[in-house]
Amino acid sequence: MTQRHYMRHLCYEMWLSPQINWDGKLLGCSRNFWGSYAEDVFQAGLLESINNEKMRYARAMLMGQRPLRPDMPCGRCGVFQSMGQFGTWITEEELVVKKVEQTTLISPHGRSKG
Ligand code: SF4
Repeated sequence: MTQRHYMRHLCYEMWLSPQINWDGKLLGCSRNFWGSYAEDVFQAGLLESINNEKMRYARAMLMGQRPLRPDMPCGRCGVFQSMGQFGTWITEEELVVKKVEQTTLISPHGRSKG
């Protein structure tokens, strides 16, 4: 039986569709509302912000490659705690599959979307 948290898929947004709040705060994923990765994306620039040091560190952390750092919003998240407990870190392979699903009309399983 898999020990994956039922909201674990939200972590993909850290790579595929980083979430930005109305006030410009970079929230990273749509579960996080308590912290930010950049204070004002509109000022700092989109690409600069979504690839800043804090985001890059968080992505490595979500893959189990870096320890939890106190300034990371993920530390307060049950999904992150579950991944740490069961070792169900995000993998490069699943990110590739999600990216393909997001950018093509044909799913990797042979069924068209819609
Ligand atoms: S672990 Fe981090 S990226 Fe994943 S859902 Fe929680 S706050 Fe979002």
